[in-house]
Amino acid sequence: MKALVLEDVSFSYNGRSILKEVSFDVEKGEFLVILGPNGAGKSTLLRCILGMLKCSGSIDIMGRNLKTLRRDELARLISYVPQRVEPNFLRVFDFVLLGRKPYMSLRPSNEDIKLVINVLETVGIEKLAERPTKMLSGGELQKVAIARALAQETPILVLDEPTNNLDPKSQIEIMRLLRELSLAGKTVIAVMHDVNLALRFGERFIFMKKGEILGDYRKNTIRKEV
Ligand code: ADP
Ligand code: ADP
Repeated sequence: MKALVLEDVSFSYNGRSILKEVSFDVEKGEFLVILGPNGAGKSTLLRCILGMLKCSGSIDIMGRNLKTLRRDELARLISYVPQRVEPNFLRVFDFVLLGRKPYMSLRPSNEDIKLVINVLETVGIEKLAERPTKMLSGGELQKVAIARALAQETPILVLDEPTNNLDPKSQIEIMRLLRELSLAGKTVIAVMHDVNLALRFGERFIFMKKGEILGDYRKNTIRKEV
């Protein structure tokens, strides 16, 4: 079974075609980066996959058609790290605990707590557990957002520009983390426009322009060609 299958996904806005019959598959555990200039349709594509926009064509997620999935079912299959995460009054621990929402009844169980501790360690932010999210740097906040998505325990992780506005050290830490997660079996799909960073850490690259796929490469192929 594939993690994700898109067939002829199209989306128009006011008669203007924004996605034009986009088709591709993603294997489980792949680290896919979707690249392309501003306005290429990357965010729109993500919004379709996340069920936030209704598009034509078909999208299968872990073998299930997106149209047949309830919101809570989708929340157990795909977690999402938006481009901008709003910090709030919550401390890091409670912020990450929000990722357990699709599984929790009223209060967190011991398993929920243990899982959050585990996730904080995976991301390397256990020391920040008690800190209010308002007091974090950009790189720390991005790690917290990824930790919240990991607490959701989904097979697929989708990120919109995960390295934007971060210092170079944090950018590399985030990309290393994403690569490790994919090596551990998670399917990671990131929209980016930093080609250098993507090529250094990613595994497969889809280039988009004007709502279409211009190229689809795996690292091995690129190495052979260079
Ligand atoms: P990217 O993420 O690659 O920068 P987007 O998916 O954000 O591209 O946008 C693709 C195209 O769709 C752009 O031309 C953008 O202006 C347009 N677009 C995106 N969202 C809307 C919207 N809500 N209303 C009108 N046009 C939109
Ligand atoms: P991104 O940086 O992720 O590509 P954008 O900056 O293109 O996102 O879009 C930010 C928000 O503005 C989105 O909600 C998008 O739907 C909306 N948007 C983008 N382009 C347009 C547009 N031409 N007209 C109206 N809304 C737009």
